[in-house]
Amino acid sequence: MAARAEKRIPNSLGADPEKCVFCKIVMREAPSHVVYEDEDYIAFLDRFPMSKGHTLVCPKKHGVTIWDMDEAGIGGLFTAAARVSKAVVTAADADGFRIVQNNGEAANQVVAHVHVHVIPVRMEDKGRFMDRKTYSPDEMKAVADSIRSVMSKEDTA
Ligand SMILES: [Zn+2]
Repeated sequence: MAARAEKRIPNSLGADPEKCVFCKIVMREAPSHVVYEDEDYIAFLDRFPMSKGHTLVCPKKHGVTIWDMDEAGIGGLFTAAARVSKAVVTAADADGFRIVQNNGEAANQVVAHVHVHVIPVRMEDKGRFMDRKTYSPDEMKAVADSIRSVMSKEDTA
């Protein structure tokens, strides 16, 4: 039996960057609440959040899973996520946060563009299964404004 040169991860959603919604957010061709951006990374609110302030951090360069990134890129991505998490926790008045990174359909990766979830968690949610929630457009805008505001204060600190 021939050894597999490279393990492939199934993702039924495909990987065509032309159709990628996260690439469209990077290009500002799809609406989103962008809360942070630098040369290589962008962060915006998850459209189907598990808690208020649930943010996604992505490399701007399209790749499907973390295996499509080099080590410097992975380091930069998680550094950006850690940085964003401070503003997310402050803005959401959370007591903790999760950093989650799913790869492949089996792992519930829904959009085929590498992303890191930053999910603020409050003490009352401790140990609870967190389902997707819906917030009003005003609530989404308010928490995005708040995250941006905290991040801009950190920039000037
Ligand atoms: Zn993409």
